[in-house]
Amino acid sequence: MARVYNFSAGPSVLPESVLKKAADEMLDYQGSGQSVMEMSHRSKVYDEIIKGAEALVRELMNVPDNYKVLFLQGGASSQFAMIPLNLLNKSKKADFVLTGQWATKAYKEAARYGEANIVASSKDKTFSYIPKLDKSTFTKDADYFHICMNNTIYGTKFAELPDTGDVPLVADISSCVLSEPIDVSKFGILYAGAQKNMGPAGMTLVIIREDLIGNAQEITPTMFDYKTHSENDSMFNTPPCYAIYIAKLVMEWVKELGGLEKMKELNEKKAAVLYDFLDNSKMFKATVEKESRSLMNVPFITGNEELDAKFVKEAAAAGFVNLKGHRSVGGMRASIYNAMPIEGVEKLVEFMAAFEKANA
Ligand SMILES: *Cc1c(COP(=O)(O)O)cnc(C)c1O
Repeated sequence: MARVYNFSAGPSVLPESVLKKAADEMLDYQGSGQSVMEMSHRSKVYDEIIKGAEALVRELMNVPDNYKVLFLQGGASSQFAMIPLNLLNKSKKADFVLTGQWATKAYKEAARYGEANIVASSKDKTFSYIPKLDKSTFTKDADYFHICMNNTIYGTKFAELPDTGDVPLVADISSCVLSEPIDVSKFGILYAGAQKNMGPAGMTLVIIREDLIGNAQEITPTMFDYKTHSENDSMFNTPPCYAIYIAKLVMEWVKELGGLEKMKELNEKKAAVLYDFLDNSKMFKATVEKESRSLMNVPFITGNEELDAKFVKEAAAAGFVNLKGHRSVGGMRASIYNAMPIEGVEKLVEFMAAFEKANA
């Protein structure tokens, strides 16, 4: 069996031990005689899986008791609408920091349901940095303040959280969930599509402070009301059963490794291997300013499109796949999520050094 080093931005690499365990349990989940894919979501055996997944989110992320943990569908993209529909209920205003395409989509969607304000943007330099924020520009009576914590396409991350006072801070953590500790109590809502760092596509994690539930706009579809899902423990309708099960296995793996503090340490070490190489290379260079760099997504370029294309092609042939950059940045992007082993990055860097030498 030949497994490649998969640098895809999402869906992305999963821990091999998780895939093996899922394979082992495929036909007969723990003596139930069924696959998790086949069992009733109302069964006792499945209830243990979903409750176990919730308990692991709470434990690993240290979720305070006054927050609900929901497993929804529709991807992070549905949250772009669900958040304004539920939260724009007083001033009907919200603030946004535009740090890339996902943040901009969240802003545009909110503008359909209320007044969406841009407090800062890094569009002027192709979103290659996190803009400095000036608190005096924040909307005092905003119903929420939205950021995209880790910008998957551009490879930036908020190193510091904005101080929004009493205004609920809402963050898209799709591509950094479980990668390092996060102080949940600083947020009104955290949300993440699972397929970057948590499991397969199909499940969306939402962590929401309880007082933000129950005041959705009149027009809100039942399925888009957080109340619907929180009152029914994510079981109003059929949840994404199998994706939740895999996410549970992934979280067990994270826990076994030592939790999020340990994950952060491993991720910092791993990212440093690549950034150090990029900062010393004469051919390759990182596109993001140092203080805004992501631990998870690392875009880089040679400055020559033909050389970029040659690199991506030769890398794929050597077993380093999905390195082509997003079309809006060009060049390359290595997504090095939790499940990418450090050897994958070390070998990639060796390959890059050899390529540089051969093409100097
Ligand atoms: C991938 C991604 C999304 C979109 O997620 P879907 O689950 O495809 O809707 C949103 N935000 C961020 C930060 C992402 O990385």
